[in-house]
Amino acid sequence: MPPIKLELLNNIGKTATDYGVSVYIVGGTVRDILLGRTPRDIDIVVEGDGIKLSHILASKMGGSVLSVSRFLTSKLRIKGNAFDIVTARRESYPRPGALPIVSQGSLRDDLARRDFSINAMALRINAWGQEQIADPFGGQKDLEHSQIRILQETSFQDDATRIMRAIKYEKRLGMVLEKGTESSLISNLSMLDTIEGYRLRKELKLWFEEPLCSSILVRASDLGVIEALDNGLNQGVTFVRKESWLWDKKMETERFWLSLIAYFMNYDECSHFIARFGFRGGLAKIIWATNRLKCLADSLILTDKGDLQYQRYLDCYDHSILRIVALINRNNIVGETIDIYLSKTKS
Ligand code: ATP
Ligand code: MG
Repeated sequence: MPPIKLELLNNIGKTATDYGVSVYIVGGTVRDILLGRTPRDIDIVVEGDGIKLSHILASKMGGSVLSVSRFLTSKLRIKGNAFDIVTARRESYPRPGALPIVSQGSLRDDLARRDFSINAMALRINAWGQEQIADPFGGQKDLEHSQIRILQETSFQDDATRIMRAIKYEKRLGMVLEKGTESSLISNLSMLDTIEGYRLRKELKLWFEEPLCSSILVRASDLGVIEALDNGLNQGVTFVRKESWLWDKKMETERFWLSLIAYFMNYDECSHFIARFGFRGGLAKIIWATNRLKCLADSLILTDKGDLQYQRYLDCYDHSILRIVALINRNNIVGETIDIYLSKTKS
């Protein structure tokens, strides 16, 4: 971790000690430190009133509290560094897939509500460097064995977004699902139906932002997750599986993957996909535009006529979508026509 962040954490630990509460870094932050990776964000849990501590830290350390939520969480910014500071919580699920009911709890309660053992560890920072790691679910052992393991049998029923998260971690961290976790995942695929669209959309975006997104999509398909999410995704993922050049495209955007997948959908599948995941605004437009372009491309292939007349129609499309469609069709007349068009209209 960068020295500036370590120093800030040290100060957060000292201030929390003065204020009389125990404070820990938790979750993915601890996992990444143990793996020698740079954590993407710094999650902090407080055994006590986390929101109050956030305000105290902001005033003592010259920061600001950006937001607080009814789930006892807050976002703090100090000297350009962001921290998520939350009150240690206990959770219960009123019904599968629903958002949990949250109340203040102990550190153990807070670790017990987490998705996987490797994400359920904490490191106390009151006295930085002196305290043992809290690891009640064997996260370190699972890290050593490179396995993703749920904490309780009902984990995927309580929150099926964990199905999508599990595959993301497998590929990102080069790990595998522990046997029991894999069978639980497979037998709970139908629980994805209990999750609201916006939550699935958020997890899908996280897949799309991963460098190994292709591997995630293919693994998800092998496990039956793609089918369970939305049938319409199948053909796009089949294309990804076949086209090895795509596997090297490490950092693509959400727009790229959405467009690629939408290209292989028919009109009804697009409608269903948009409705199920609740796409709106720009992203919904990308999906529809790709779908329309595919119809144009199909007619190009039918007539085998990459002439200028067709190129006129291409004026209606965003260049980023045109590039993706050209890539998909890089060995046929469609790709050729779009490439000519793009080279002519390059400013
Ligand atoms: P990343 O490196 O992508 O940020 P992360 O593990 O930090 O990965 P976040 O989405 O930032 O993941 O969430 C922080 C922590 O919150 C996780 O490590 C995990 O302990 C917990 N968490 C997040 N989502 C869930 C969930 N759906 N169910 C249970 N615990 C979760
Ligand atoms: Mg994180």
